[in-house]
Amino acid sequence: MEYPMPDLSVLRRCWPEYEDERSTYQVDVNGVRFGGEVPVVIAGPCAVESLEQTLPIAHAVRKTGVRLMRGGVYKPRTNPHSFQGLGAEGLRILDEVRRLTGLGIVTEVMDPRLVEQVAGHADMLQIGSRSMQNFPLLTEVGRTRKPVLLKRGWNATLEEWLCAAEYIATQGNRDIVLCERGIRSSCNSPYARNVLDLNVIEPLRKLCPLPVIVDPSHATGRWNLVSGMSHAALASGAHGLIIEVVDTEAARAGLRCDAEQGVPPEVLAEIVDRALEDSLGLVRPARGGMTALPGSPRMMRTGSKAPPLAERRN
Ligand code: PEP
Ligand code: MN
Repeated sequence: MEYPMPDLSVLRRCWPEYEDERSTYQVDVNGVRFGGEVPVVIAGPCAVESLEQTLPIAHAVRKTGVRLMRGGVYKPRTNPHSFQGLGAEGLRILDEVRRLTGLGIVTEVMDPRLVEQVAGHADMLQIGSRSMQNFPLLTEVGRTRKPVLLKRGWNATLEEWLCAAEYIATQGNRDIVLCERGIRSSCNSPYARNVLDLNVIEPLRKLCPLPVIVDPSHATGRWNLVSGMSHAALASGAHGLIIEVVDTEAARAGLRCDAEQGVPPEVLAEIVDRALEDSLGLVRPARGGMTALPGSPRMMRTGSKAPPLAERRN
């Protein structure tokens, strides 16, 4: 399929070795590789609200085999009276979580003046949807050597999104993972928060060498929709997912941010297992181990119980 070509000259200059329109530049975060055959999952709380709230989620996430945890300490909130995040104290909590669990940390930076501070604690810097066109922030993040998760502005075209990536890359930081997180539409319904634009994955993969993941949590705003959208995202060619998690219903009741959209750990485990099975060409028998789809070229094991995800991934 031919797509109208945006001006990608700068993008191509940043990744000259990726001329082949189907090859993907791989981004390594703590040994976890985005852009390879196996999808990557980032999971964790929306916001770090305390160590007591974050640590159980981190342990639950670790148990599913996921190796990168999300958790915001600087929160972009529409309402100035809403919880804004714990800031520097939250970064110390994330350090403690990393020390206790070994998880890599993905967290948002909103202010160009705080890039150095956040980069001192994060393994991957997140640029949120509302900051996608904060050009001084993109420039500052581009001067670091930390991998960047660049979310799509909720009103951004594909071209505008790629231009934002160029702002980062032209400063010398090419380790960028794109993230589709839903766009606003005149057809937005009260049943979901945003419209998940999975149409964008295919042209993105063709026009741009960067890995692209999907955030079904912010796209839907409702945890019961997250599993379906996760599978749809991976079936559409996404290289991974970023998912919000809530560990218990009691904890959900007390949350100060995005309480409705965090999946319980068992749902995360199902999403992760199914993503992995699909990517390896495995099918689930009624009970027991996994078997190969007939003719699956990437079958790795038959009949035996699969080892924990942590051992299998990267
Ligand atoms: C988030 O991931 O914490 C977040 C605020 O998402 P977005 O920027 O996509 O709204
Ligand atoms: Mn959130």
